[in-house]
Amino acid sequence: EDIIVIENLNKWYGNFHVLRDINLRVKKGERIVICGPSGSGKSTTIRCINRLEEFQEGSLVVDGVEMINDVKNIETIRKDVGMVFQHFNLFPHLTILENLTLGPIWVQKKPKAEAEATAMQYLERVKIPDQADKYPGQLSGGQQQRVAIARSLCMNPNIMLFDEPTSALDPEMIKEVLDVMVELAQEGMTMLCVTHEMGFAKKVADRVIFMDAGQIVEENEPNEFFNNP
Ligand code: ADP
Ligand code: ADP
Repeated sequence: EDIIVIENLNKWYGNFHVLRDINLRVKKGERIVICGPSGSGKSTTIRCINRLEEFQEGSLVVDGVEMINDVKNIETIRKDVGMVFQHFNLFPHLTILENLTLGPIWVQKKPKAEAEATAMQYLERVKIPDQADKYPGQLSGGQQQRVAIARSLCMNPNIMLFDEPTSALDPEMIKEVLDVMVELAQEGMTMLCVTHEMGFAKKVADRVIFMDAGQIVEENEPNEFFNNP
């Protein structure tokens, strides 16, 4: 029941060896926090999981699908794996509701009314149902990030990846985004989160993984991790 299996993953950017023998198994429903210094390969690791990046060596199986550098499985994996970025990545010229229904309508071929009903449910869940007709630029950073999370959830993913979801936010907005992530974790979503929010890690992570210079150098339960400087 491992939903992600990474074995001896190696990746280079040109001559630069960015990921060195990454091995990681994630069970369904597990919450993993990945931390480590800037440039250590955290983002690259999770971007390999949904095929935003290719890799040169090793194997990666996501929800039973073997990731090979073959275009065919990209679509499958993008539907199955939701991703939330540091900078929200919403479409600025579309309303919030249109941002949420774009994938369900065009990728999943859902009827518009059904996609909109689902989108409204998720906007309620992230506590901004009143913002549906606004444009991203009219929302605060914290609200935009909650929209980004809702947009991923509208695609009904089995796995959610977060790449420093609160790093671009003002301090007062961080909590409202973390609250949504905590709820998601408590509902049993499989999550991999690159974050420096150690309070979040302590609260929900089953494991904390520490990366340095392209390697996983430590892997612990949060309590061991925080008691072990
Ligand atoms: P982290 O998420 O831990 O900050 P990244 O995975 O973003 O680290 O990056 C790891 C290293 O790879 C960094 O040194 C970064 O500069 C480098 N890198 C990232 N993307 C590219 C790219 N497209 N081409 C070359 N080097 C890259
Ligand atoms: P973030 O911190 O939001 O992950 P980065 O600044 O690490 O963003 O990277 C932004 C983009 O630039 C990514 O697509 C990454 O792959 C690319 N990138 C990062 N470092 C390098 C690099 N040394 N050479 C080329 N591209 C890079």
